[in-house]
Amino acid sequence: MTGKDFMIAALEEISRFIIEHEGALNRLDNAIGDGDHGTNMARASRMMLKLLPELIETREDMGEILHQVGMGCISEVGGSAGPLFGTFYLRAGMYNRGKTVMEPADWVNSFKAGAVGVSQLGMSSEGEKTMLDALFPAGRAMNEALEAGKSLREILAAGAEAARGGVEYTKTIQASKGRAAYIGERSLGHQDPGATTIMLMIQAMHKAAVDMNVE
Ligand code: ADP
Ligand code: MG
Repeated sequence: MTGKDFMIAALEEISRFIIEHEGALNRLDNAIGDGDHGTNMARASRMMLKLLPELIETREDMGEILHQVGMGCISEVGGSAGPLFGTFYLRAGMYNRGKTVMEPADWVNSFKAGAVGVSQLGMSSEGEKTMLDALFPAGRAMNEALEAGKSLREILAAGAEAARGGVEYTKTIQASKGRAAYIGERSLGHQDPGATTIMLMIQAMHKAAVDMNVE
């Protein structure tokens, strides 16, 4: 069971990972899009780092913290990533409304709810070379680990590994959603920036869980 401390630590770690990779994410987007994915996600992360101290003071509800983060992404971040990632956090927030602590199952279910939200808003599914190619496999791997009775730390490790596999998979397929779809075949061989961000997010959550010795 985790509380607000782990939620805040995870969100901070996610922000730090993404800011560290801003340039790399821009370069990935440059190859198949307009080169702004790192900039967009770093903007979301800076917004989050500014918001968190205030949320620590005022919010006990896990759902509300995630909701505020989602609203921030939508209102402050451009591109398609702002609304898509914002929706991910809003759906996760909806799932956790009223909870002051989260069980490992709550983490897995909120992650899955977020992934469904992204695919609904993006009218996209797996195999289209988007963040969904990391989100859905990670959700499945985390669910399996949960059902096998693993700890949250192990669940996140399994999710990060599956997301890495998803990122690799995006190199082998052609984009049919988002800007990368405009270049069709030429998107082959390139790794999807959004999927890469998802991998970083889960890696960051895993690091936070290891650092805090979360079961
Ligand atoms: P933009 O494409 O507007 O420049 P970003 O560069 O920040 O926005 O984000 C691009 C990423 O968004 C892609 O790498 C992809 O993972 C994700 N993406 C784009 N369109 C969709 C969609 N319809 N469904 C899911 N993810 C999408
Ligand atoms: Mg872009």
